[in-house]
Amino acid sequence: MTKIPVDVGMIYEGERIRKNAMHVEFGGPKSFGAELFRVAGNDAVEDGKVTVVGPDISEMAEGSRVPLGMLIRASGDKLEEDLEGVFERRMHYYFNYIQGFMHLNSRDTIWCRLSKEAVKAGLKFEHVGAAIIDLFKKEYDVIEKMDITFYTDDKAVNEFIEQARAVYEKRDARLRGMKDEDVDVFYGCVLCQSFAPEHMCTISPERISSCGSISWFDGRAAVKVDPKGDLIEIKKGEIIDPVKGEYTGVNEMTEKKSGGAVDRIFLHSIFEYPHTSCGCFEAIAFYIPEVDGLGVVHRTFKGTTPFGIPFSTMAGQTGGGQQLEGFAGIAIEYIRSPKFFIADGGHERLAWLPKDLVERFYDDIPESVRDKIATEEDATDLDSLKVYLEKVDHPVVSRWKAEETAPAAGAPVAEVSELTMPLSGMPIAAGGGITITFKNAKIYAEKVIIKKK
Ligand code: SF4
Repeated sequence: MTKIPVDVGMIYEGERIRKNAMHVEFGGPKSFGAELFRVAGNDAVEDGKVTVVGPDISEMAEGSRVPLGMLIRASGDKLEEDLEGVFERRMHYYFNYIQGFMHLNSRDTIWCRLSKEAVKAGLKFEHVGAAIIDLFKKEYDVIEKMDITFYTDDKAVNEFIEQARAVYEKRDARLRGMKDEDVDVFYGCVLCQSFAPEHMCTISPERISSCGSISWFDGRAAVKVDPKGDLIEIKKGEIIDPVKGEYTGVNEMTEKKSGGAVDRIFLHSIFEYPHTSCGCFEAIAFYIPEVDGLGVVHRTFKGTTPFGIPFSTMAGQTGGGQQLEGFAGIAIEYIRSPKFFIADGGHERLAWLPKDLVERFYDDIPESVRDKIATEEDATDLDSLKVYLEKVDHPVVSRWKAEETAPAAGAPVAEVSELTMPLSGMPIAAGGGITITFKNAKIYAEKVIIKKK
């Protein structure tokens, strides 16, 4: 067994490595990287082997930024490809168990740091790899063999990222065409409760997990091999609202797993009871009241949203497991979902999106709106956004017109020269059978309810 020069354990999970304590940074906003977990054949995997393609930690200068690719391959008779996403998400936790190693995000947005202390202690990739293999094998006896490759050479990392993206795409594609209505169970994940104690992701065929790593298929496979683990089966129960995506089973499980803090969840609406947001989300969807539309910003977008704030500031306000009306942490893949905030108008309500996301989801967004969504090139603030949406006649503009024809606050909703109404529901002794007539009346109302007879 390789002797590891730093401690390894759950107590280091919340360790943050600030800039002045950092020796080297991997991936993140100023570099690039990816992680991938693959199930392979027994003959292909060399148990315990750690390979480094490119410079090792000891060759990296203090304060440097280096690209990083991490490939884990595992084999075992009971291992299924469906488990890859779940184990890949586990990498986040296990890397954070290593003293002096900080791991953030997932897939091709990973951002890691190594502390000066850990490097001074002699930590190398062979130790990191050995610790990770040990942690996986101790927790999952379905894993019989495991090896790890670290890529730090620019060219090798770029090639690895392409390979990883093809696998992510294949995994995500499996779900396309499957509907929430096609299944009786969804899956819940509470992995992020270590930092967002009231958060549970509900994963349905049309709503992949907020981190983008765990699909409905991944949830199903995980529950099969580890029924007492962090992934839970949720029986849908009764449908309360098929459009908003509200189910009795999801509400009950959310209430149980959030310790009573959250008892209603709309899977496909950003209003009233939106899904809670942990902090690992790939993107944030947000309501823009000034244009009555929705926007989405993702983790790797370097500019600012029309609110004038970047992703990081919005993430700080949205995360922690909160249920915040008008904001929701989502997976980027959810933009492709036919149920993308369908209760709020779906894609037709999408007013602002970074350009790379418009390009990526161009064919998935309805023709009626895909050329009308503002990007950072069309609008940099709320005023220019409004001007742009009006210029292209975006579908949200018709909502403004509807609002303009609605009465202003304080104005009467109706002016009538004569209105006659029976006093229904009153006992005869108290005036039943009486009719009241208003002449030249102005009616002020907070709400008007019109019922069909
Ligand atoms: S974001 Fe959701 S699915 Fe992903 S690890 Fe956290 S709780 Fe699980």
